[in-house]
Amino acid sequence: MTLKIAVDIDGVLADQVAAVLREIEREYGLIYSKSDVDRAHWTFEGREVWEEISRLLSDPEYVMQVPIIHGSQKAIKKLSHHDVFVVTARRPHTEEATRRWLSAHFPSLKGYYWARTGTKHNVPSDVLIDDLDINIVEFVKSDPDRHGILFQHPWSLNGTGIEDYRSQVSYCPEWESVVKAVETIDRSRQ
Ligand SMILES: [Mg+2]
Repeated sequence: MTLKIAVDIDGVLADQVAAVLREIEREYGLIYSKSDVDRAHWTFEGREVWEEISRLLSDPEYVMQVPIIHGSQKAIKKLSHHDVFVVTARRPHTEEATRRWLSAHFPSLKGYYWARTGTKHNVPSDVLIDDLDINIVEFVKSDPDRHGILFQHPWSLNGTGIEDYRSQVSYCPEWESVVKAVETIDRSRQ
């Protein structure tokens, strides 16, 4: 069957943490790796990483330079027989540049929803692929037939009780296992 699959941008399609760490090194001379970013509200020297990210995303040139997550293009192609669209918490003023970035790297993704963190369950979909536990928990909680795929990074788990929804959640550290998880969800619905 055709599943409606909502895909987050940052941390799932776009490697925004790699991009911001590059800028932190350039601007502040501080070198961190992704494994240092161990929670959603990670701070460095009193600065909140998401503040830095959202400041940088205000610059359309920066948006266009954000690298893609490894394996994402191939996987999105593999999933193209489903109804796949993006859902992002990026602020609305970045939408134009973000859409340009998407059409350059993921031309098949046409649908675009904006939803604040923790409200992505308001977008009609069967599956949500996201890198933050809060979004996955709210999504699976909203409907027992929904399935969440947590795209796992060091910052993905933030004590939201995601382990209480084991039957509705898959944990995937890369895109190949996301594609497999979608196939399993699809089979279970036939
Ligand atoms: Mg994200």
